[in-house]
Amino acid sequence: MEGTRRHVVVVGGGIAGLAAAWFLRQEDDGLAVTVLDGASRVGGKLRASQIAGISVDEGAEAMLARRPEGKDLARMVGLGDELVHPAPVGASIWSRGALRAMPKGHVMGVPSDILRLGRSGILSPAGLARVPLDQILPPTLITSDVSVAAYIGARMGGEVVDRLVEPLLGGVYAGRAELLSLDATMPHVATAARTERSLLRAARAIAGSPKDAGPVFTTLKGGMGGLPEAVAAASGADIRTGVMVRELRRTPSGWRLVTGATREPETIEADAVIVAVPAAPAGRLLAHEVPKAAAELARIEYASMAIVTLAYPRAAFPEPPSGSGYLVPPVEGRPVKAVTFSTVKWPHLAEADPGVLVLRCSIGRLGEELVLQRDDDELVALAMGEMAEIMGVRGLPLSSRVSRWGGALPQYDVGHLDRVARIRAAVAVQPGLAVCGAAYDGLGIPACVATARTAALGILSHLRQERGGEWREDEPAAGSR
Ligand SMILES: Cc1cc2nc3c(=O)[nH]c(=O)nc-3n(C[C@H](O)[C@H](O)[C@H](O)COP(=O)(O)OP(=O)(O)OC[C@H]3O[C@@H](n4cnc5c(N)ncnc54)[C@H](O)[C@@H]3O)c2cc1C
Repeated sequence: MEGTRRHVVVVGGGIAGLAAAWFLRQEDDGLAVTVLDGASRVGGKLRASQIAGISVDEGAEAMLARRPEGKDLARMVGLGDELVHPAPVGASIWSRGALRAMPKGHVMGVPSDILRLGRSGILSPAGLARVPLDQILPPTLITSDVSVAAYIGARMGGEVVDRLVEPLLGGVYAGRAELLSLDATMPHVATAARTERSLLRAARAIAGSPKDAGPVFTTLKGGMGGLPEAVAAASGADIRTGVMVRELRRTPSGWRLVTGATREPETIEADAVIVAVPAAPAGRLLAHEVPKAAAELARIEYASMAIVTLAYPRAAFPEPPSGSGYLVPPVEGRPVKAVTFSTVKWPHLAEADPGVLVLRCSIGRLGEELVLQRDDDELVALAMGEMAEIMGVRGLPLSSRVSRWGGALPQYDVGHLDRVARIRAAVAVQPGLAVCGAAYDGLGIPACVATARTAALGILSHLRQERGGEWREDEPAAGSR
């Protein structure tokens, strides 16, 4: 790197790494920033491609609009006019042999209204009868983090967990309610659990609390896959793809990264490093210099999944779907865990070709990796079978696409928040090192962007302190001139 320009290397060009690069350069455009990504393209879990002439996301398809970080970043990199919202249509759950509308006013599947829950038919009569016991049972004592299933099951019974909470969590984490942390995945419920006796009452308060007006989700017209490239371009960073980082070592003046094949290693020197890769590679990179963090990172599990996208002629549906899609509880034993009717949920996609209906089937949850070993044709057949059986679809799709996401979604198991605190504490003692990404404070895009900003600001403050230190050393003490 030329002259005395400070050099920061960001390892990982997913949305977290790119956002970190953007924040670094935004705050200090004199900084040289290099982003290294092992894949042939940046973006990580964000990628869009054409199916039947329509640009549809292969990975994340939306971001929370009620958190500012994601949409603000999109605006700041010039994509403000591209932000669009979903149609105001509801989602359903496949339960007890039928598609049933999700009752309004739930909190991540936790019902807040027993009458509405009863009318939905999602629970059996016995399961429904168990729910109001929540109001008379003694308090469920929570002294430390517990699993989502343990707490909600104790209050409202197993069916609420199995048929409501599990599919909702499955949609976000592809995980299991008996393993996922209440504190990390349902923070509002976790807080209420420590003060309120009744979960029903707590859910009513959370669901009814004033929220920002406007839609809950947003996306970009060309898909969320358009965000990473725009962030990369706007950052002015040097973006290098196809560069897998294998090793990270401290040097007397900063950090050295080793990339390339073991026989022909390339080294890159940096004043500071941000590690923005999933937990497993982050753990491997930190193993030498921050073994405590590495050991904790190695314990964060990931669920793998595949998205099968099908484009059908609209006429293939005896009745066009009216909702945004449906979720399938694991107890139903079906391999497809969720279906999104993309051209119903996102009206801008339907405008591209009104004669085509595009849908995305999600396959794979934690512990269900076997189904992902099937080849692409088999996964497409599975998704088509689901559509034929549930929606009565006839005939073949115009086009199909299989997007595989190995190590897709980190599992925030019981104790996750403490684990992240231990990782951060171990990393913090290393000067000029920070971590960010989906493994830490939330796997949604806005949460990833928030971790990126925190990491970038930490690195900038370190570089400023160092520079301050240099000045003090270089400059003669006041009065001695
Ligand atoms: C199918 C799917 C659907 C989703 N849907 C949504 C959604 O609708 N809304 C939402 O908010 N979130 C969604 N998510 C979650 C969200 O997309 C991710 O959590 C987020 O994009 C992760 O970003 P990241 O930058 O932390 O990591 P990643 O996107 O995983 O990026 C990490 C990057 O690091 C690179 N890398 C790894 N190891 C190395 C190494 N040693 N050297 C160099 N580079 C390396 C990888 O190639 C990758 O590009 C979804 C995720 C998936 C998989």
